[in-house]
Amino acid sequence: MTMVGLTGGVGSGKSTVGRLLAARGAVVVDADQIAREVVEPGTPGLAAVVAEFGPEVLDPAGALDRAALAAVVFHDAAALARLEAIVHPLVGARSAALMAEAAPDAVVVYDVPLLAERALAAGYDLIVVVDASDEVRLDRLVRLRGWTVVDAQARMAAQAARADRLAIADVVLPNEGTEGELAAQVGQLADQLGLPAS
Ligand code: ATP
Repeated sequence: MTMVGLTGGVGSGKSTVGRLLAARGAVVVDADQIAREVVEPGTPGLAAVVAEFGPEVLDPAGALDRAALAAVVFHDAAALARLEAIVHPLVGARSAALMAEAAPDAVVVYDVPLLAERALAAGYDLIVVVDASDEVRLDRLVRLRGWTVVDAQARMAAQAARADRLAIADVVLPNEGTEGELAAQVGQLADQLGLPAS
């Protein structure tokens, strides 16, 4: 099994790269998606979050009210640490279970936004960083996702600096050009990883 860590700042193009590698046959494990799944209604994860933060973090339907939870943890580092202490082990366990299901010769790509921040860089055969300037990412988040400039800047500021991410990279995929240019680079990477041609 080849383990690839895929990271990059918000709006850099990680998910796009993950999709392109999946199309070439890689097993992509998406940490953000799993982080949502482990707190879905009826999960022990959601029960633990409610036990810690109270029923105020639920919406009327009983699902996690992300905005309410964000309001609690956004300006309170201790509360954020308590939330992460619940969610991160669940994400780690679920990710490990999915990776264990992959075939012995699989290329497993772990799409994890906070690879640089969490010093999680050990244990990968290759770390791929998708890189775009803050200006390009801000433009994408505002124009394509409809975020406000203030929200996009806050999310970017909460993540590792561009230089810190680049410092852990084995492979950098610059993504300031077209999606076609990105796809061409990912194609070369997939070739290097020995993935079959699509
Ligand atoms: P997040 O950290 O929020 O998950 P991400 O790094 O996974 O973001 P993507 O979702 O892949 O980023 O890309 C962000 C947005 O930018 C998407 O709308 C995507 O279609 C678009 N995008 C990515 N690369 C390019 C490109 N080279 N040219 C134009 N648009 C792009």
